[in-house]
Amino acid sequence: MAGEFDFIQWIAAQNRAGNLVQLGVGDDLAVLNWPADDLLLVGVDQVLEGVHFDSAVHSPRQIGKKAINRSVSDCAAMGCLPAAAVATVALPKHFSLDQAKELYLGMRQAAEAFDCPIVGGDTAAWDGKLIATVTILGRTSGIRPVARSGAKAGDRIFVTGPLGGSILGRHIEFVPKVALGRELAALASAMIDISDGLSRDLGHICRCSGVGAILQAESVPIHPDAVELSRRDGRAALEHALHDGEDYELLYTTSRPTAPGICIGRIVEKPGMWLQDERKNLRALEIAGWQHVWGSAP
Ligand SMILES: [Mg+2]
Repeated sequence: MAGEFDFIQWIAAQNRAGNLVQLGVGDDLAVLNWPADDLLLVGVDQVLEGVHFDSAVHSPRQIGKKAINRSVSDCAAMGCLPAAAVATVALPKHFSLDQAKELYLGMRQAAEAFDCPIVGGDTAAWDGKLIATVTILGRTSGIRPVARSGAKAGDRIFVTGPLGGSILGRHIEFVPKVALGRELAALASAMIDISDGLSRDLGHICRCSGVGAILQAESVPIHPDAVELSRRDGRAALEHALHDGEDYELLYTTSRPTAPGICIGRIVEKPGMWLQDERKNLRALEIAGWQHVWGSAP
């Protein structure tokens, strides 16, 4: 990219002070004031051209927002608050300074919605495609972090919204459910955000918790996008709801009979996952989560 140093200087000039930030972008490392009674949660996630976005369809601003929001959604999944982010970008050589700025502004726009400063990062231009990697620092701020490993036989399984067909657009424009995640932290025994698809992400909870699950087929909330995709590709809308990825809804288990969202099933002792129809017939629920490959959407 032409003007790489202009870009770095421009980012440093965008720097904004916050409560947590003692020293932000522009030094060797950022310095944060960390509240003594908070746990620090750390995670990293990347978005890749051709896997998580398509530059022919998505703007740099949308891509920047998605890069941040994926990591913020992981904060929601733990019940924690995003506190700060660190971002690296590998820019294609043909990227213009304006495109690079738009990418950064997308990141900042998404992060600021959660009062989460971008406190550092790295940028380089190369012969390859666009890659953006975001490390997120989260803080507990009064909650107990919710792991994937706490589900118990008898718990009910809830999801916070309709699923399937996100490839039609919701995968790039979604709002991480941070406030809801904090509310759920008080009652959830296990929690995850649905990035890989309901079947795969429920599989993560089951494996980490050493339990199994039975889903009620008729209870799984189907997004209109899943219905639209079904119309185009002939696969059942329920299959899209079960297996498509990047819904970024929260999936959680709780011992409470009623809780926010839609109850879609229950946790059982025996490892494995099953789908139960209205006649109480069980069939094995195979994991077929989103394969992170573009070009398959009709
Ligand atoms: Mg996640």
